[in-house]
Amino acid sequence: MYSSADLSAAIDLGQLRVLYQPQMTSDGARMASVEALVRWEHPVHGLLSPGHFVPLAEKTSLISRLGEAVLRQACTDALRWPQINVGVNVSPLQFRDPEFASRVERIVRETGLPFERLELEIVESSYFDDPDKADLMLRHLRDLGVKIALDDFGTGYSSLSCLLRLPLDKIKIDRSFVIGVDTIRSASIVHAIVALARAIGLKVTAEGIETEDQQSFLRSAGAHFLQGYLYSAPVPVQMIDRLVHQVEPI
Ligand code: C2E
Ligand code: MG
Ligand code: MG
Repeated sequence: MYSSADLSAAIDLGQLRVLYQPQMTSDGARMASVEALVRWEHPVHGLLSPGHFVPLAEKTSLISRLGEAVLRQACTDALRWPQINVGVNVSPLQFRDPEFASRVERIVRETGLPFERLELEIVESSYFDDPDKADLMLRHLRDLGVKIALDDFGTGYSSLSCLLRLPLDKIKIDRSFVIGVDTIRSASIVHAIVALARAIGLKVTAEGIETEDQQSFLRSAGAHFLQGYLYSAPVPVQMIDRLVHQVEPI
């Protein structure tokens, strides 16, 4: 439906939009960070979700340009909210670029965002191609102060070896586990994941919180941060300007 030439032109024309979704502290009282989520404001098809065009970008070299455009925008926007961090998704294919870590470093420096306020969200396949290289790049970034979160935790094939090997600060429990916490099986798995992460000193975000029941379950299980439609969908930058000053549950 869309060609890579269309997407390339869209990046040049500034048709990518970055929305932000709050991650709340588990008591729901405070926004701790936001996650940057890209959209393509297509002149004919309207606002497209990443599922429609990120895979296309990943098939071509466009993913690096897309990733860098989002990173630059997110770091720039985050300067508006000194009290919170900003999460940016990284495609596993960006790790194929040997310059990845130094490009991130340069972009963050150019925007002026303190490195400590950036959280890169990676997925475990980032380290399938060349584990040693991925490890080095992540350590380079972490030495600068950048935080590393393992996204969609539990959905892949080697999550536990990732925990063993990768330099991480946080895991994000995938929504597919949160959906089922009213069943004994999912509830037990979520309990075990949170306990494991906490035991090795990692922070935990639970993704896809939609109901009060899920919120109270994850809160009592010990997740540090909660993210989902119960608090807010991904919203434009101006909406975060307003939400960031609210201290009561949003
Ligand atoms: P993700 O990083 O796991 O992001 C979470 C996705 O879950 C987002 O979908 C978000 O809108 C959605 N979500 C959040 N809360 C809820 C909820 O309570 N219920 C439900 N049903 N969904 C919820 P979105 O924005 O469509 O993004 C999908 C995926 O696209 C992201 O998954 C991420 O892997 C990828 N993506 C988004 N932006 C970027 C980007 O800038 N670069 C790269 N490489 N990938 C991106
Ligand atoms: Mg993510
Ligand atoms: Mg996720």
